[in-house]
Amino acid sequence: MNIPFLDLGAAYRELQADIDAAVARTLASGHYIGGPEVEAFENEFATYCGATHAVGVANGLDALHLALRAMDVGPGDEVIVPSNTYIATWLAVSQCGATPVPVEPDACTYNIDPARIEAAITPRTRVISPVHLYGQPADMDAILAIARKHGLRVLEDGAQAHGARYKGKRLGAHGDVVAWSFYPGKNLGAMGDGGAVTTNDVQLADRIQVLRNYGSRVKYVNEVQGYNSRLDPLQAAILRVKLAHLDEWNARRSAIAAGYRLGLTGSGLILPFVPDWAEPAWHLYVVQHPQREALQKKLTEAGIGTLIHYPIPPHLQSAYAALAYEQGSFPISENIHRDVLSLPIGPSLSLSDAEQVIQAVRSSVVALS
Ligand SMILES: *Cc1c(COP(=O)(O)O)cnc(C)c1O
Repeated sequence: MNIPFLDLGAAYRELQADIDAAVARTLASGHYIGGPEVEAFENEFATYCGATHAVGVANGLDALHLALRAMDVGPGDEVIVPSNTYIATWLAVSQCGATPVPVEPDACTYNIDPARIEAAITPRTRVISPVHLYGQPADMDAILAIARKHGLRVLEDGAQAHGARYKGKRLGAHGDVVAWSFYPGKNLGAMGDGGAVTTNDVQLADRIQVLRNYGSRVKYVNEVQGYNSRLDPLQAAILRVKLAHLDEWNARRSAIAAGYRLGLTGSGLILPFVPDWAEPAWHLYVVQHPQREALQKKLTEAGIGTLIHYPIPPHLQSAYAALAYEQGSFPISENIHRDVLSLPIGPSLSLSDAEQVIQAVRSSVVALS
């Protein structure tokens, strides 16, 4: 058996004719920075997300960083982030000279726990930055109510959740601004780096547009000290092809997730919990087991690829040694990091492969007990 965690080449094989044509068209166009492909993708992605504006940038980290800059986050400010996330959410805050203030997740959804946010708010807090982790939407209404009450802005990290819905409405403009990554392994992935922000706030969209391009609106006139963070037109052209397939691909992910739920209930694993109001994008299918390393080893031996998202929480990374958090500072997140294992999921995984994964997981768990 050989079931990889994710087969990135499969999307190209499925759409080769369309992707080749999009690349050839872009090469022939003479537009290698900005231009019609980037603008068309921005329009199509904004429409898809139900937002009035999308601005393409170089990657997901820049999307987060420029969104915070556009909201004037800087030294002395605090931004509330999940303790359980990929480190990019924190790094974007640090890049502004501001301080990430971690809040523990709900142990069932793995997403930031709204009930714990208010205790972390100080006079320096400017932004709450929930992450829709593993493709599961965070509880936006609860977060937005707290933000409104305290006069804070909300930056969503949507890097893992393209196409997910919260209370029936696609992510893209619940908060002030949403940051997206098109890293190849994401649900909507480029063939290289890419990112975007979506927002209904015309001023934020405008500021991010200026920041991504050297702080310049008119060539050689620099209003602010900006960055070079632009979405490559070749990537935009490829993303346009893939965006048209995103819903179908997410539906395949969802079918695999439903199969896993059915096949793994009662297996002894903790399975993902999906609140009534959530329609996840199933970027990852994350289970928990007290011996996840041993389980991973058994699955590797059985030819099944798994990954750990993530082995070390941000507050225990040496990158954040200066914040002086210790083991035990964020126990809910630490427990999650200790026990999680991500099973194969993706648009190219067949349901019969998923069935093989279920059988292998069940027999491995039995062998471990
Ligand atoms: C992938 C990811 C990012 C960063 O995206 P890049 O395009 O790699 O910079 C940010 N946040 C989360 C939650 C991610 O999964």
